[in-house]
This record gives sequence, C-alpha cells and structure tokens, in this order.
Amino acid sequence: MRKQSTGEALTWGYSKENGPDSWHTSYPIAKGNNQSPVAILSKDVFKDPALLPWFTGYDPGAAKNIRNTGKTLRIAFDDTFDRSVLRGGPLPGIYRLRQLHIHWGSTSDKGSEHVVDAKRHAGEIHLVHWNSSYSNYADALRKTDGVATIAILMEVGKNPKPEMKRIIEEIDAIKTKGKEAPFLNFDPSILFPQNRSYYTYQGSFTTPPCEECVTWIVMKEPISVDEQQMLKLRSLSSNSAEDPHCPLQDNWRPLQPLNNRMIRSTCQ
Ligand SMILES: [Zn+2]
Repeated sequence: MRKQSTGEALTWGYSKENGPDSWHTSYPIAKGNNQSPVAILSKDVFKDPALLPWFTGYDPGAAKNIRNTGKTLRIAFDDTFDRSVLRGGPLPGIYRLRQLHIHWGSTSDKGSEHVVDAKRHAGEIHLVHWNSSYSNYADALRKTDGVATIAILMEVGKNPKPEMKRIIEEIDAIKTKGKEAPFLNFDPSILFPQNRSYYTYQGSFTTPPCEECVTWIVMKEPISVDEQQMLKLRSLSSNSAEDPHCPLQDNWRPLQPLNNRMIRSTCQ
C-alpha cells in the first residue's frame, strides 16, 4: 500500500493497517448494534408465515457502467426514477436499484460475507436498492428502512452460471483502480438463483461508513461459478495503473455480532 502524506486520514480498506478492525476509528457506527454481515444459523431462524415473496422489475436499459473502485467491481444503474425496482418480501414499499458489486476471496474457501450454517462461500453479490419514498439516496441512508440489499452467495461448482459471463468478460477493460467502461443493456435478475426463498434481517452496509439502514434479503440457494471466473475476479488490481499490481481480493468484512436481532425466513 502507498504511504499517505501526514495529516491525511488513512483511507479504509482490507489490509492489516486499514482493515475492518480499524474502520470504527473513522466511522464509529461500525461498532453499532446492528452491523453486517452476520452468521445465519438455519435452526435458529424464525420461519415467518407472514413473510411474502419478493419481486423485481428491472429495466435492462437502466445499466450504465462497470467500474473498478479499487475495493470492488461495481455496476451502476440509473436510479433517477422508478425504473428498476424491488418490492414485496419484508419491504414496506418500492426500492430502486442503484448498484451491484461483488465480494470475493483470495482462494475459493472464503470470500462471502454472510455465513450460512458455518459455510463461507467463494463470493457474494450485493444488489443495493433504496426506498423511493425518500427524496434521494443520501436521505435514504439516514433511515432504518432506507436501503434493501439482495445478497447472492457464489459457490464454485460443476455447472457455472453462464449469466456471470457478461460481467467476467468486461474485467479486462477495468483491470486497475479507477477504470470504468460502459455496461449497457443488462438485466441483473439473470443472476438470481432458481429458488427465491430467503433469509431477512435488519443490518448495515458492510463497507464504511457502515450505515445501519439495510434490510438484507439473503438468498438461500447459492449460484454456481467456476474457478476460472473466480481467478478472473482476482486478476483485478486494487491499485491504479501507475502503481504496481496488487490483487483485488479478500474484500469481505468479518462477521459482526447479531445482538438482539431476529433473522426470519420464508417457510419454504
Ligand atoms: Zn457489499
């Protein structure tokens, strides 16, 4: 990592010096009572018969670009109106899709953030939506029901999801930190597993400032990826083009205490 000039706050990251254990020094809420990710134990989950199915209506035309932020791979969507939306499930209203990003490991035995029945997967896709009853995204971040994130666990398996291809193909165009490429005509619902049943709980963003505004919808069924696709993700650099290559990997936050929160699931 590059040395930073005196007086400049050390930016957050995933290394020893600026990793998750130190985030709270700049972002105190990272030590709050409703942080994410959490361990999900299926035997302790409340099977709630009142919990409804969720629905998305995504407009492929809302996809804008794909970017290497130095901390993740992120796809941005147009959220200026109710164009690509999520509703139903545990949610009180309509939520607009803003961005999709991925967490992954340096090896395929780690990388996911949520851990279900003690199993950590190779990666986790997050689709971040905000409650369109608030005037804008920044406003939604200040509300406990402001954001809804769908989490899809990635498992290295025999029948890799061909739908991941579109994202993987674009990686060479965004090798280094700050690189961005157009990413048009993409419907992220192709990434959903077949079975839509889910776990849900109230938590936070897993990256600073770790705002506690997220209703999590964690898919029970993982999607399959292959080792080649994981290697491709790990070939991204967390450094800019001018700096030496530093693999962008292990960009996942460790488990946070559940405290008094309840995790619910659909009965199926
Ligand atoms: Zn995330």
